[in-house]
Amino acid sequence: MKKTKIIATIGPSSRDTEVIKELILNGMDIARINLTHASHEFAKDVINKIDNLNKELNTSVSIMFDLEGPDINVGKFAGGSAYLTKNSKIRIYMDDILGDSTKFSINYPKLIDEIKVNTVIKLDDGLIELNVIDKELNYLLCEVVTGGFIENNKGLNVIGTKIRMPFLTKKDKEDIKFACEQNIDYLALSLIRSSEDVLEVNDLLINLNNDHISIISKIENESAIDDIDEIIRNSDAIMVARGDLGVELPMERIPGIQKMIINKCHMMSKVSIVATEMMSTMENAVRPTRAEVSDVANAVLDGVDVVMLSGETTIGKYPIETLKIMTKIIESSELDQNYLDFLDKTMRTEKQDITGSVAYSSVECALRLKCNAIVTPTMSGYTARKISRFRPSCIVIALCPNVETVKSLNIYYGIYPVLVDEIKSFDKMMDLAKKTATKILRCDNGKIIVTGGYPFNEVKHTNFMKIEEI
Ligand code: PEP
Repeated sequence: MKKTKIIATIGPSSRDTEVIKELILNGMDIARINLTHASHEFAKDVINKIDNLNKELNTSVSIMFDLEGPDINVGKFAGGSAYLTKNSKIRIYMDDILGDSTKFSINYPKLIDEIKVNTVIKLDDGLIELNVIDKELNYLLCEVVTGGFIENNKGLNVIGTKIRMPFLTKKDKEDIKFACEQNIDYLALSLIRSSEDVLEVNDLLINLNNDHISIISKIENESAIDDIDEIIRNSDAIMVARGDLGVELPMERIPGIQKMIINKCHMMSKVSIVATEMMSTMENAVRPTRAEVSDVANAVLDGVDVVMLSGETTIGKYPIETLKIMTKIIESSELDQNYLDFLDKTMRTEKQDITGSVAYSSVECALRLKCNAIVTPTMSGYTARKISRFRPSCIVIALCPNVETVKSLNIYYGIYPVLVDEIKSFDKMMDLAKKTATKILRCDNGKIIVTGGYPFNEVKHTNFMKIEEI
């Protein structure tokens, strides 16, 4: 069973119940709904289908909403699009005008006060590049450096400038309220610029009485990289959002930034996610390229918690095949992971306390004895998360009596959370651990390690470890 988790984005190619069912059966741990494109109606429909499938399949697939963020967009063009010719001049108006090949408007009029001459502006995922050559009263005069067709409402990135646009837009506030109403599990924040933006969302969630949505900060620009330590500290997970990152920064910087973020998250006990174009060839082909296989494998070898699919499962022709192949790549790469190295590296940054020491010993023992699983009863998920941090060589079965804890653990490396009734005695827990492991592993001979805290109702109190034959 794979330990690295998969987030698959649900879209037109994957919204049917039968397709979602196959995605679950082939390794999807979290379904992502991208609210830049998806409506609330679409989101409700997907949530409903996943709820029903979780009951039918006895699974606990979680739901992630991805917010649009404070995006700057171009306005409308006569006929819906225009061609911007290389070396021609173009005016970007701060008022709402109908665009053509010489002018267009944007949705953020204050840009003119925040941008400097000689700044690079990119349009439509970086496909078109402009350079600001002058500032007039209500427009920016730009030269087209790389031309191309531009359509209504496409995105605009201002390179190397920290835009002061308020982080929470009206749409994002409504979407966060909707996320709370739908009781979803993870909220991904687009276009954050600093840890202040993360704290603002945290405050809003507290005001909405939501204490369990996990916050995922998407790293997509230079200013977020400048504040990376504080952003990691204030988030539950970090997504290396390589799409926008590759527009805002030279693409060749992405691999180094990705490795830096995976490593920092690991050392700071936070989840890392690598996203975008991992297997994009499979939007139109039945096989990935060798380079894409290496991309997924390298993220796994670096110890990432999660890899993510976007276009491959939203608009691609082969969503199920993509999941199957991604799962195969993960399973194969996990055989090559250097578990001893992870263990040593993690121990050096682990607190010298009882929980950390028991978690370390369980993972070390599981590796030495080639155990099939580590099973842990957990109330808040703390023990399971500690074990996951050491990157165990076998899966971690977390027995939780709380459905929100179950859903929150899905994103962690190696953890298979299972909803159970409240555990009343040590003997009953050992019995449940063996039965659950036998069922999940589909085997009845091997070794498991059972670890946790006794008495059960104390949190952050891991104090025992027992090796059992099944
Ligand atoms: C990205 O930019 O890589 C990303 C994951 O965000 P989105 O899909 O919202 O563009």
